[in-house]
Amino acid sequence: MSEKLRCLIVGSGPAGYTAAIYASRANLAPVLYEGMQPGGQLTTTTEVENFPGYPEGTTGSQLMDDLRKQAERFGADIRFGMVTAVDCSQRPYKVTIDGETELQTETLIIATGASAKYLGLPDEQRYSGSGVSACATCDGFFYRNKTVAVVGGGDTACEEAGYLAGLAAKVYLIVRKDYLRASRIMQERVLQNPKIEVLFEHETIGLTGEAVVQGADLVKRRGKADEEKVHIDIDGFFLAIGHKPNSDIFKPWVETDEVGYIKTQPGSPRTKLPGVFAAGDVADPHYRQAITAAASGCQAAIEAERYLATLE
Ligand code: NDP
Repeated sequence: MSEKLRCLIVGSGPAGYTAAIYASRANLAPVLYEGMQPGGQLTTTTEVENFPGYPEGTTGSQLMDDLRKQAERFGADIRFGMVTAVDCSQRPYKVTIDGETELQTETLIIATGASAKYLGLPDEQRYSGSGVSACATCDGFFYRNKTVAVVGGGDTACEEAGYLAGLAAKVYLIVRKDYLRASRIMQERVLQNPKIEVLFEHETIGLTGEAVVQGADLVKRRGKADEEKVHIDIDGFFLAIGHKPNSDIFKPWVETDEVGYIKTQPGSPRTKLPGVFAAGDVADPHYRQAITAAASGCQAAIEAERYLATLE
């Protein structure tokens, strides 16, 4: 016999935990599965200073611990496990955890987040939280008047380079091609910003530094006759080469855009499937902030409550 739930939340970032807080307080007896990285992306950042309510700032891990405890205080059942199969062909929806536990749920809140893409260099792991970041808005503040590099040539990279240029003394934008893929206006902003130096046709091969990032080794025009090794001194290394929403397992049942972000009705976490909601970064290519994710988790729980009321 599979367990029957009224509300299943998948994912343990700000969206998932906030959904759990609201759903528990609404007596939906939510069960939340944490996934592979309990606490989500925020646990990989160091300090969080832009989440309202923390005037002195906090750490990503502390913030997620607090949200988790708050959800547990109201009775949310938080479990460790990964969703390995989903069947939304009929209600209640069937979800399998870790290939063995079968659940049936009336409502499903997908809050599985997105994962920043990395280059795949061992140094990215080595200096994780010590100069390597995939979120300028989260970590840029720590590089005031310092020198940083941003990798990527799309809109995100240009936006992050511009944001960082407002704080840092100098920003290198490391672009692997000889052009920027970003929209024209974003390109112009970057190219006209005196603090940003665009290194076209450069690829990063490693990072240097004792305990924290102090430099990056690059190759210019890799594989060409005039290939050249370049070293830059930097204090921070920001990845902006795209995000991958963690939506693969839900794709047969919900609509996604070409990148994989779950499509919801404008201004709402409702997917096209009744009782299935998507909150946080898995459905948000634009803002990707803890506070916006938390807000959409709240909306999802309220929507789940209203949906259940129509059923009952
Ligand atoms: P994109 O996929 O548009 O761009 C990724 C960039 O990273 C490209 O320049 C790509 O290079 C580069 N890249 C990818 N892999 C590597 C690698 N291994 N090494 C070096 N460089 C690499 O992602 P974005 O996150 O920039 O944007 C995603 C979507 O969100 C886009 O549709 C964008 O328009 C949108 N967006 C819009 C904004 C706005 O309008 N304000 C702000 C932010 C995003 P290459 O070009 O060589 O493939």
